[in-house]
Amino acid sequence: MVPAGGPATRWAWVEIDRGAMLRNTRAFKKMLKPRQRLCCVLKADAYGHGAVESSKIMRSAGADMFAVATVAEGIELRRGGCSAPVLVLGEPPCDAIPELLENDLMPAVYTSEFALAFGECAVQVDKVGKYHLAIETGMNRIGVHYTKVVSFRRGIEFHRGIQCDGVFTHFATADDPCGWDYKLQCTRFDEAVQAMRDAGFECGIVHCDNTPASILDPESHHDMIRVGIGLYGLQPADATRERIRLDPVMSVRARVMRVAYPSMGEGVGYGFTYRVPRATVQICTLPIGYADGLARTLSNRMDVLYRGGRIRQVGNICMDQTMVAIQQTPAEPIPEAEYGDLMTIVGRDGDAEVSMDEMARLRNTINYEVACDFGMRLEKIYI
Ligand SMILES: *Cc1c(COP(=O)(O)O)cnc(C)c1O
Repeated sequence: MVPAGGPATRWAWVEIDRGAMLRNTRAFKKMLKPRQRLCCVLKADAYGHGAVESSKIMRSAGADMFAVATVAEGIELRRGGCSAPVLVLGEPPCDAIPELLENDLMPAVYTSEFALAFGECAVQVDKVGKYHLAIETGMNRIGVHYTKVVSFRRGIEFHRGIQCDGVFTHFATADDPCGWDYKLQCTRFDEAVQAMRDAGFECGIVHCDNTPASILDPESHHDMIRVGIGLYGLQPADATRERIRLDPVMSVRARVMRVAYPSMGEGVGYGFTYRVPRATVQICTLPIGYADGLARTLSNRMDVLYRGGRIRQVGNICMDQTMVAIQQTPAEPIPEAEYGDLMTIVGRDGDAEVSMDEMARLRNTINYEVACDFGMRLEKIYI
């Protein structure tokens, strides 16, 4: 059954299933040994699911730490009452240092300029700035090169204002843990950690696994796993599907705000990319558009769920609205839609389902992007 409801002011919304998020979080927590930690990745407003609400749900399911992409995201968590450790997954500009210290956010660090500036500021406010060392092992995105970690630590560690709370790397090909590229990153990471230990440096929490690595290669869990997409019930790869059951958390719903029967041959939407083939086609308007994450490239290529079945989206998707067609076929008559009727853009309605994966395939992208996009403007309703 499709739940009723939705926000009072707009007939399009994102529905977040708390129970599903709780179950997914617990499923990852269950993979871990007692002293291993779960870091829940809440960047991009929790992949569109709402970071503050998600942090509360995940914390109650055993999250030990949270990770965000930006300082602003970290501050939002603190203002929302989150008191768990928060890691910023990139090294912010030095200008962000006072805010990091004020809000007790741990940055990823990979330049000595930043590390020393962080230490200086920390001493001034009588704090110790905790950081996680980012190690470059092959993704070629951020981090200190794995062969240079010891000299890097030597160049900053004398500073009493900083403390290494953890060291980490990030995989480029974790969906293929048997592949050479993944194994090479693992070896390089292990080498770097060992070299630091041999040189007498504390490494703190050692971590490298994202969702696919956490599921496919338990050997590499180390002290903590950093899970993002899986918490939201989405599979990062085909290979993970048979290894863990995850429940989708986000649905996208809308109510019909107008119904009409245009004459045969009339166009629908900008550019008339769809024309009404006969006068019995009912055109319904939904108040959701590409500024809400319903990508315009889906125009005339996607289905919407209505009363447990599929109907076609027609015409170009507009910025804030889109049209769908109820076209009768002799085989299965579809009831006429009325003002206020519920339609599902992503999610389940009876036995029918449009998954994030289906929409990602149609858009030629990955489920991560589809979920993030729906987080842009739509109000979130937690059920
Ligand atoms: C986004 C991100 C993650 C989480 O990745 P998922 O595939 O969503 O689990 C982990 N670590 C880093 C550094 C990231 O940027």
